[in-house]
Amino acid sequence: MVSPLLRNMVRLLEKGRERSTETVAVTKGFCADRKIVELLWEAGYAKFADANLDNLLRLRRIFGNRVELQLIRMPMCSELARLVEADVVPHVSHKEILEHLSVLSHRRKKVTPVILSVEAGDGREGFLPEEILEERTFLKTLEGIRVNGLSTTLACLSGVLPQPPVIERLRKLRDELSDAAGPPEFKISVGGTTFLSLWEGAAAPEAVDEIRCGEAWLFGTDISRKKSFAWLEQDTFFLSAEIVEVKSKNPAETAVRGYDAFGRTAGERRFRTSGKRALAACGLQDVDETQLYLLDDHVKIVGATSNYLVLEVSRNASPVTPGCIIRFRAGYGTVLRAFLSPYVDKVYL
Ligand SMILES: *Cc1c(COP(=O)(O)O)cnc(C)c1O
Repeated sequence: MVSPLLRNMVRLLEKGRERSTETVAVTKGFCADRKIVELLWEAGYAKFADANLDNLLRLRRIFGNRVELQLIRMPMCSELARLVEADVVPHVSHKEILEHLSVLSHRRKKVTPVILSVEAGDGREGFLPEEILEERTFLKTLEGIRVNGLSTTLACLSGVLPQPPVIERLRKLRDELSDAAGPPEFKISVGGTTFLSLWEGAAAPEAVDEIRCGEAWLFGTDISRKKSFAWLEQDTFFLSAEIVEVKSKNPAETAVRGYDAFGRTAGERRFRTSGKRALAACGLQDVDETQLYLLDDHVKIVGATSNYLVLEVSRNASPVTPGCIIRFRAGYGTVLRAFLSPYVDKVYL
């Protein structure tokens, strides 16, 4: 039986090919777990991107030089030597980092390809377009470095959604740079999944060379638009947790309230209801309680502490007792934490 995850991987790759866009599999959402990256390879992916260098170095050991690896988080100075050594392609937003990379690459008689990150409105990482234009000559004369692309990322920090002009601006910037430097391959790379939806609209822009996606094939969704892709599957990751307490609770109504264990104001909803509550043996150390979806409508998530998930069990729910296993569909935040948590067993179906 082929897994929904593998089907999603293949469909996304095909979707890209239809538009002559290469798809890069982003592996930061599951710590570049070996079984999942092997499935990506089986599906036909040969380009991986991660926000953590250690994950990329592990991928290099698994696949050798058969794959292209991109570091999509701006590199730390302390990572540059290892990055050059392992032929990882960094996304860069600082002149100083380029200079540093140039020295390291030149010393090793290497040419390191780099992708220039361009800020497009999210207020996060990247050069401003005018900064790149000002450094045209600098970029051209830098030894040991080859700029092979421009990249941009949206909808991560402030939820800014990509619009066709974002891509037009990148194209224009590429043309202006190409005139000066004339590099042979100068690709446009966009991410993440939020860009996929751009090609589904009526006023779809021209295709780009490369799209970096995690969420789309992992969950079949685009959270920036709160939508599911009809051509992808959503039932890919589940979390099972054991119930360790079931009791009727009558939470204090009038107690003076401070903040919860994580310094957050605990919303009213956590206290409003009295009734049967079940505690599951997992917490914020393992899951993101806002990205867990119950399969049974009669059970609701009240909240989570570091080591408990608190559930409200209505009268119509199937009986819940200590020892019961409760199953959730897991979203991005939960999958990320679960893969980071040594307390969660990973089972591959
Ligand atoms: C996380 C990330 C992506 C992938 O984002 P998804 O929404 O999971 O597809 C792409 N590019 C960069 C720079 C990222 O940090």
